[in-house]
Amino acid sequence: MESQFNRRTDRARFFLDIIYPSKCPFCGKAVRWDMLSCDGCFADIEWTDNSFCGKCGHRQCICGEDEIPFTRFYSAMVYDERVKDAFASFKYHANRNLGFILCDMLVDKMLLTGDDVKYDMIIPVPMNPLKKHIRGYNQAELMTRELAKRLGSVSDTSVICKAYSSKFQHDLNKAERAVNAVKTFYPSGKRIDGKTVLLCDDITTTGSTMIKCGKLLKELGASRVDAAAGAVTGH
Ligand SMILES: [Zn+2]
Ligand SMILES: [Zn+2]
Repeated sequence: MESQFNRRTDRARFFLDIIYPSKCPFCGKAVRWDMLSCDGCFADIEWTDNSFCGKCGHRQCICGEDEIPFTRFYSAMVYDERVKDAFASFKYHANRNLGFILCDMLVDKMLLTGDDVKYDMIIPVPMNPLKKHIRGYNQAELMTRELAKRLGSVSDTSVICKAYSSKFQHDLNKAERAVNAVKTFYPSGKRIDGKTVLLCDDITTTGSTMIKCGKLLKELGASRVDAAAGAVTGH
């Protein structure tokens, strides 16, 4: 059975496909112009379900250990061996099909909660500007723009910044590293009082980066912060 989530909706793709054939992000094989991945790979994905906490995003809930700044934590799939290469191709070779699949799933989950939140802005977890310069784009930002289109919101990259240098992190001892990590993300100076915000990242492992950014958004005045992660590790 073909999934409604594995389809392209943009008809212009039919013509584009002649020059740039659509490829399955998971196995690299060419797929029909209106498909995002092949049926076999799509059926093999482990989607996150109710066993993941809807507030902290962890399977082993950490809500009691840390102050979670989110009202909701949405995720699409589990990050494992089956999807590893697809995330690498999203990151380095710009196969954007994975981004569309993730956004379809995230928006569907948001609709299912029935919260009906109108986000004033969607903010990507910022990337080291040097890395962004080398790669040409930030994959979390790509997802943010796609989510903004679907949710009738705007992508905003002007609220949180990431410092140029976290490259000396490996030269530091444990205590110095913790201080450096806090300094890594900093506010631009823009206030977001009373705003509803969706914070977005492509993959989250320990969740500490998203929690850090979420707390920062609350400190800047956000009335509600939700999180959307493309993939989470199985923790
Ligand atoms: Zn495939
Ligand atoms: Zn939790």
